[in-house]
Amino acid sequence: MTRYNPLEALARTKHTFGEHGGVNMSIEASTTFTVMSAETMPEIFAGHRNASHDGCYLYGRHYNPTVFTLGRELAAMEAMDMGYCTASGMAAISAAILQLCSAGDHVVASNAIYGGTFALLREFLPAKTGITTTFVPPGDLDAVAAAVTPKTKVVFAETLSNPTLVVADIAGLADVAHDSGASLVIDNTFCPLMVTPALHGADVVVHSLTKFINGASDIIGGAICSSADFVNSMMDVQNGALMLLGPTMDARIAFEISMRLPHLGLRMVEHSRRALDLTRRLEELDVPVVYPGLESHPGHALLGGMLNDGFGYGGLFSIDMGTRERADTLMEYLQNRHRFGFMAVSLGYAETLMSCSASSTSSELTEEEQRVAGISPGLVRVSLGYTGSLEQRWEQLLDALRYVGALK
Ligand code: PLP
Repeated sequence: MTRYNPLEALARTKHTFGEHGGVNMSIEASTTFTVMSAETMPEIFAGHRNASHDGCYLYGRHYNPTVFTLGRELAAMEAMDMGYCTASGMAAISAAILQLCSAGDHVVASNAIYGGTFALLREFLPAKTGITTTFVPPGDLDAVAAAVTPKTKVVFAETLSNPTLVVADIAGLADVAHDSGASLVIDNTFCPLMVTPALHGADVVVHSLTKFINGASDIIGGAICSSADFVNSMMDVQNGALMLLGPTMDARIAFEISMRLPHLGLRMVEHSRRALDLTRRLEELDVPVVYPGLESHPGHALLGGMLNDGFGYGGLFSIDMGTRERADTLMEYLQNRHRFGFMAVSLGYAETLMSCSASSTSSELTEEEQRVAGISPGLVRVSLGYTGSLEQRWEQLLDALRYVGALK
């Protein structure tokens, strides 16, 4: 089967010259835009003209040319018609859900998702909007179908779940969603370039650009990729979640992120290469490690069937240390003794980032919800970086595992 090549799609978008013929696009710092004829302005307000149709810009909270260009690049990468960027990943997720759901509507979501998204769906949206969510195991399509009601407008999952690395059956979820007239929204934050959810039926793809896409842990951002109709509807001056909630991305930030896209592929390859190598070695030593690149991973074949060629299985793995105390000791030793990485939330950085999910990025879930989602109290999520040498990192990891008595 010929796979989609997101790098080639991305390369085809790279023809935005700077104002003076610079090899990079210019940063459009204006917050407001002029029109040559007064009658154009009401047409933009009415949505008859806009950035995607005919290059008409209005105001910085509406489309901005630099942010628009980054959106085009990300849409090409995701094989979608159009994309636009937001101030954070959570802004992208919340705006997309609010655009698709009205008061009283219903979401079916994977029970294994980032804690912030979980809290948004379980607490915030029901309290503020009456939009309710049923959480189900993403691998159990019968449970997903059984949870759908006539009010269901969105089925939501992460391609690879945070932090349990459960693989979503995107095509199966799309069938269930589409059978009931709902949209499938996929958070592809863990798998940029690796997986193109739209090719498997996703209607909307969201990203936290804060992670791999940005890659330097210095910028917060998000993106929504979908059909042009959907993205334009989000900018509607009467009903658009992006226009009215205003989680816009600054043009300078869009420029910076765009500059990092050309090496995203190289970075993903190296994150994946190192993660596969280290986790294979850990598995040989009977360390309880979870990585979708390992044949022992229950979602290995499913993810393999969705992967684009050449980017591997990603940079995230987890080690289950059994208890929070042992997890904390392992991380402290790795950071403070070896500088193996940082004890910090987030992921997709050049350096390794480690966190104990149950007491950090998944602490929004109750103990019971964590148990159901498969998050053990001692689960250490590792976002493997690519600094130092692989052998150096392996020696450090071995030493730390010996120190906590995790080697048989
Ligand atoms: N989606 C996933 C899978 C995440 O891991 C996170 C943050 O950790 C988010 C979304 C939220 O992104 P942001 O912090 O950019 O709002």
